[in-house]
Amino acid sequence: MDDVIADPVSSYWENMETRQYTIKKKVSFAGVGLHSGKRVKLTVKPAPDDSGIRFVRSDLDCRVTIPAYVNRVVNTYLATTISEDNVRISTTEHLMAALHGMGIDNALIELNNNEVPIMDGSAAPFTRMLHKVDRKRQKAAKKVLKIKKEISWQQNGSEIRMLPYDGLKITCGIDFAHPLIKNQSYTIEITPDSFIKEIASARTFGFLEEVEKLRQNGLALGGSLDNAIVIDESGILNKDGLRFPDEFVRHKVLDLLGDLALLGCPLQGHVIASKAGHTQHLALLKTIADHPECWEFVTFRKNSKKGVFELVAATTRAAGNKILPYLAPPGIELPEAVACSA
Ligand SMILES: [Zn+2]
Repeated sequence: MDDVIADPVSSYWENMETRQYTIKKKVSFAGVGLHSGKRVKLTVKPAPDDSGIRFVRSDLDCRVTIPAYVNRVVNTYLATTISEDNVRISTTEHLMAALHGMGIDNALIELNNNEVPIMDGSAAPFTRMLHKVDRKRQKAAKKVLKIKKEISWQQNGSEIRMLPYDGLKITCGIDFAHPLIKNQSYTIEITPDSFIKEIASARTFGFLEEVEKLRQNGLALGGSLDNAIVIDESGILNKDGLRFPDEFVRHKVLDLLGDLALLGCPLQGHVIASKAGHTQHLALLKTIADHPECWEFVTFRKNSKKGVFELVAATTRAAGNKILPYLAPPGIELPEAVACSA
């Protein structure tokens, strides 16, 4: 094992969390699925060290548990869907973003239907309740996937780059022809506090004419002005307007965080995404799997006298052999990586 003493002066190292977290007690939510329109009850329960985030359908006899890993992703059209043994859970991204953003590593999520409830279209209802029940620190060290060399992916005008960085920083850029949105860019250093304050309450959005088309195709059946920002040529149809002037791009940060959580562990790096959605996020995760020389797993240990020790938890080769299958999503059509500057 290599020991590296990380720079102890920056506030990042002072505030960093070195151990895993779950929640202190279970918490339940009820709502409708955005696409299915079906009512669903969801319960987030505490889970043991190193168990990760797992989903289970309480309405089925088979009780299949679906680990929230990228290799369980079967669909990225409009939302992220995971599956195991033909049991599916869709629209996982906002709840996964809430858990990831709040630094919750381990949880068991039970739901009695096939789609995570959309709530108000953001992650705020989840974060509010998770914050209320509070996090519980666990014994095991957080195992972090640390970007050591730049990884980049681009195709058809979309681009995502990952750079080495002490912490998790996200930059998202969007470019829509609509005059209300146009070019927006947003950068944030993700901590539980900054996530709750700046990102969690940003809602999903859609264009009225597209929503009507989706409905004709049996999608967005649960969508309404109570759970999405809806825009037509003249403006925003929601009578209370926006929660942030740049709520659209903030929601893109939220979606990206939710999909990055499918790595199954926290990430250390700066992710810069331009014109990306769920399909592009998954292509990035596949690119990470294709380039194990660009990252490694590390844990951190604090020492009050000497600062922070960075311990290589496993060499990438050893960890990679075990973890790579989880990072490579099979059975799903993804755009091929066309650039990697490793
Ligand atoms: Zn979303």
